[in-house]
Amino acid sequence: MVLPGFVSPFAVVSSHTRRSGSVCGRPSFHGASLSTRSKNAQATLMMQLRVAVVGGGPAGSCAAERLAESGIETYIFERKMDNAKPCGGAIPLCMVDEFDLPANIIDRKVRKMKMISPTNVEVDVGRTLKPNEYIGMTRREILDSFMRDRAISLGAKPINGLVTKLDLASSPSGKYKLHYSDYSVPKGESNARTLEVDLIVGADGANSRVARDIDAGDYNFAIAFQERIKIPDEKMQYYEELAEMYVGADVSPDFYAWVFPKYDHVGVGTGTVINRPAIKQYQKAIRDRAAARLEGGKVIKVEAHPIPEHPRPRRVVGRVALVGDAAGYVTKCSGEGIYFAAKSGRMCAEAIVAASKNGRVVPTEKDLKEMYLKEWDRKYWATYKVLDVLQAVFYRSDAAREAFVKMCEDEYVQRVTFDSYLYKTVTTVNPVEDMKLAFRTAASLIGENIRANAAVASAP
Ligand SMILES: Cc1cc2nc3c(=O)[nH]c(=O)nc-3n(C[C@H](O)[C@H](O)[C@H](O)COP(=O)(O)OP(=O)(O)OC[C@H]3O[C@@H](n4cnc5c(N)ncnc54)[C@H](O)[C@@H]3O)c2cc1C
Repeated sequence: MVLPGFVSPFAVVSSHTRRSGSVCGRPSFHGASLSTRSKNAQATLMMQLRVAVVGGGPAGSCAAERLAESGIETYIFERKMDNAKPCGGAIPLCMVDEFDLPANIIDRKVRKMKMISPTNVEVDVGRTLKPNEYIGMTRREILDSFMRDRAISLGAKPINGLVTKLDLASSPSGKYKLHYSDYSVPKGESNARTLEVDLIVGADGANSRVARDIDAGDYNFAIAFQERIKIPDEKMQYYEELAEMYVGADVSPDFYAWVFPKYDHVGVGTGTVINRPAIKQYQKAIRDRAAARLEGGKVIKVEAHPIPEHPRPRRVVGRVALVGDAAGYVTKCSGEGIYFAAKSGRMCAEAIVAASKNGRVVPTEKDLKEMYLKEWDRKYWATYKVLDVLQAVFYRSDAAREAFVKMCEDEYVQRVTFDSYLYKTVTTVNPVEDMKLAFRTAASLIGENIRANAAVASAP
């Protein structure tokens, strides 16, 4: 999810510079076709290393894809091959190029965003977008299947099953044993199976069993709730290329609520960390706030899921590495996790390929820490920290939220915000504009606080 207004004075910047053609990372697939890549994989002579990727969401699929195409023996476990992960499904533009996503994965191209304050002041964001720029809206069941199938077509061996337990290796070069229920076994027969591997990528989401079994440590989490609502066609036209974000203590004490357009319906949801038991009350509030626009709508699906709040204390233990939500890579404030899941899966796999010399050597814990974790933190640590701070500043009261929405009117804020979200980089940061904006933001925060205090003082 994109959250306008959250960058400029602090400049959320990744280490990449933007290239023409909108790609934010490496050139996708090095320009090679699927069949060439698959042949490359088969041509690798020595395939000693065996890797299990647990979880077939964006993180797992992107890890499995890179491992398999390098000729490494790769297994990808997924308990539900048609899983529809509860999710807003918003992805940044750069992900389309960087992960070679076909056009039909994108249900809708959002070019306008309405920020709606606690007092229902509406600010239109998106004026700075170029004609070819958009936020991609996807359905996770479609996106995830596409990425998983691609990894499988490149040689990853799919196992439709639930990993239940992990036995740790008993020596530095020993095997890890995964226990799983094989769902391809006919009903009535025993489906308990095991698989021994050299290395594990834990991509099994926020409730990761791999993280539990390696004692990766806990993270705090938000609970997010979403209803998919089919609204009449004429109402849907309003959301043709528009998404809405609502802020206010009524819809969430520490996050925002959203109405996102999907294929033939809208996703309406909210989240909270600090008052999880009240999530249904917040969900009712967002439906009330958006009532006129959702009138005549029918709820077709209700979904809820935890969202990690920060990385786990230990993301690599021995030869087990965590990626995506299992590692805790969702940004605070915006709640964005799909891109970071895919990217971390890919980066982790690239580290394994390099450290193992394409599967000929078993990487060590030190290799994984140096080549995956260190690189990840170098690239993204600042991004996570800045968004932590912004959440603390702008979501702490309705006065701050009003100031925040007001700040989103600023064209410079919009441009820098969209650049950092769409491309995961900031191209032209202007120090003078940054200073001006910092003052305007501070003034706006103070002004809204004074107004709120005056309103309290004059109340009967
Ligand atoms: C309501 C909501 C809205 C959100 N909206 C957005 C948004 O708009 N944009 C955005 O960028 N992010 C959003 N996020 C965050 C995003 O959904 C996650 O960050 C992202 O899905 C993480 O991907 P992942 O591959 O790490 O994990 P997941 O997508 O959770 O995938 C894990 C996979 O592992 C499988 N699995 C789990 N356990 C096992 C096991 N033991 N054995 C076998 N398989 C297993 C699961 O079935 C699943 O397919 C949202 C989250 C929520 C809850």
